[in-house]
Amino acid sequence: MRPPLLEPLFRPVTSLPGVGPKLAPLFDRLVAPAGRHARVLDLLLHLPSGLIDRRRRELVMDAPEGAIVTLEVRVDRHRPGTGRAPTRVFVQDESGELALVFFRAQKQWLEKLLPVGAKRFVSGRVEWWNGAPQMTHPDHIVPPEDFASLPLVEPVYPLTEGLSPKVLRKAILAALDLVPRTFPEWLDPALKAQRGWADFRDALGSVHKPEAPGDLEPTSPAMSRLAYDEVLAGQLALAMLRTRLRRRAGTARTMTGERREKIVAALPFALTGAQTRALQDIAADMAAPHRMIRLLQGDVGSGKTVVALLAIAGAVEAGGQAALMAPTELLARQHYATIAPLAQAAGLRVAVLTGRDKGKGRDQLVRAIASGYLHIVVGTHALFQEDVAFQDLALAVVDEQHRFGVHQRLALADKGRGADLLVMTATPIPRTLLLTLFGDMDVSKLDEKPAGRKPIDTRTVPMERMDEVVARLGEAMRGGAKAYWICPLVEESEASDLAAATDRFEHLTRAFPGKVGLVHGRMAPAEKDAAMAAFQRGDTRLLVATTVIEVGVDVPDATIMAIEHAERFGLAQLHQLRGRVGRGAAQSTCLLLFRGPLGDTAKARLAILRETEDGFRIAEEDLRLRGGGEVLGSRQSGMQGFRIARAELHGGLIETARDDARLVLDRDAALATPRGEALRLLLYLFGRDEAAPTLRAG
Ligand code: ADP
Ligand code: MG
Repeated sequence: MRPPLLEPLFRPVTSLPGVGPKLAPLFDRLVAPAGRHARVLDLLLHLPSGLIDRRRRELVMDAPEGAIVTLEVRVDRHRPGTGRAPTRVFVQDESGELALVFFRAQKQWLEKLLPVGAKRFVSGRVEWWNGAPQMTHPDHIVPPEDFASLPLVEPVYPLTEGLSPKVLRKAILAALDLVPRTFPEWLDPALKAQRGWADFRDALGSVHKPEAPGDLEPTSPAMSRLAYDEVLAGQLALAMLRTRLRRRAGTARTMTGERREKIVAALPFALTGAQTRALQDIAADMAAPHRMIRLLQGDVGSGKTVVALLAIAGAVEAGGQAALMAPTELLARQHYATIAPLAQAAGLRVAVLTGRDKGKGRDQLVRAIASGYLHIVVGTHALFQEDVAFQDLALAVVDEQHRFGVHQRLALADKGRGADLLVMTATPIPRTLLLTLFGDMDVSKLDEKPAGRKPIDTRTVPMERMDEVVARLGEAMRGGAKAYWICPLVEESEASDLAAATDRFEHLTRAFPGKVGLVHGRMAPAEKDAAMAAFQRGDTRLLVATTVIEVGVDVPDATIMAIEHAERFGLAQLHQLRGRVGRGAAQSTCLLLFRGPLGDTAKARLAILRETEDGFRIAEEDLRLRGGGEVLGSRQSGMQGFRIARAELHGGLIETARDDARLVLDRDAALATPRGEALRLLLYLFGRDEAAPTLRAG
């Protein structure tokens, strides 16, 4: 049950004055997470992306071209517009005269706003036109008695089409009024004092009603406090879930080694040192009576699948079943295809279950899982469905690439009595980010590439040399090579991405008739699979794709990766994409096609890729590059699931919050002390109350 104190903040935005049913969908789109309507709290956590400084006061004749100023003037006369000419309202101070310019303005409205002879404060951008100053559509016009309502440091918010800044601001100010006056403090008093942080309510006030530009710096006391609150909520929730998992005792599994030996014997390669070490970690966890919660971190191509399979085989040796869950249908089927022959060599019965399985076939599968006949089930989130029950699920492996939430991971592990959990991620994640995504998990790293891999020859090529690239590609394809061609995210709309990919597909098909395939996110799964299979078989030799292939296809004999508009991709993403080649013994090439001129960050990104293939280093550089340059703005570089905190700026806070959360739970696992009670509020405020029910249960 949500604490009653928070009730006003969980009201719909439509309860705010001025927000009617017409505006509601716009607010939903702007501030609400997918799947629910916008609440007052969502507005409060919708933070400014920048600000307009209106503190500059000038006399009319001293106001510089292009500057934002606030002027104190007297209204002299109105000159109504005629035809397409705008209305001009002339105002003056002791230095001279300035024209306020209004296009398509209502006469009466203007006369009321700016009565002749009255004093007004106007704020906006000054332009000089034919030697005279003017201001087109001032941002603010207020009489002297309302001067206080003029935001001298005006926050600027991310907007959505159809929603004006004024309407948004008014709603946010109304939302601020709903924040309870007295909030119990959930921060550690010593930490709060040491950092000089304000109360929660005041911190919200100073980011939405800043008094100086510094208030909105990401490291200001107000912003830091809010970021810390958010991070602490996340760390606390993760720590609670972890405690809950741990508390439910695991099973000590006795493994014979027999199945694993058969698989290792069937492998066409020797395990790397890193793979062997990871398997030792996993085997030790599984043999121990506590429950395993382990993250297997390894770059693309580092060989996680084999590790997963051997862990799975261990679970079966101990008499249990195992599930392997992938984020997409394509990946699930691919895992299945990789695993099935090896599993069968060790006498393991394996099947695949996805959303595509329906009717009788599915019923049969579900029965074979429940009876324990099947040892291994590979699937998508379809594995969560309620009627999927295991006879004895000993190990759940989640190949996740960040796509599953904490909840889903747990849901799968909950299908077994104390099932061990192995989460695999292909993105080398810097430590701070790891903490926010997974909390304190045990980690095994695959930081060693399988032997025999040649470094990928990475080059940057301007788009102007496209014809040359296509010609070289043709040569390579005639020599038997297979290549990917990745089309970028053009805009936020999937439709325009698709158009770009389709155009490129047609263009390349003209060059290589019958040899080119296409996969994109809008395709039906069967179509996608067919296109992938044709490429795998070699019927097509060039695969044009949107970033859907990022999630991990495995075509070891593909040796060329061309990425169009590489400058538009993030570093981690480029690294992931590049990892699709260089998987076999042959020399591979990655062509980063870019359209100049490149900004400094884009330049640095491409240079790092040329320089190294070490995913862990690339991840750290990525974070560093994001932390430099921009301070406010471009929140898309933020952490998944976070609205305020940013890893590159608040990294230190994340570690502090982790320690803080641990300490709290050590002393007050049920959150029953006054600070504990206050922390419950925090969990609700930042949507981490998924962790709260366990409090009562435990
Ligand atoms: P990941 O899932 O980590 O991206 P995969 O498990 O798909 O990587 O492995 C990539 C490729 O490397 C596969 O073709 C796999 O068979 C091969 N591979 C895995 N381990 C080794 C190894 N120790 N030596 C050689 N090749 C390996
Ligand atoms: Mg993989």
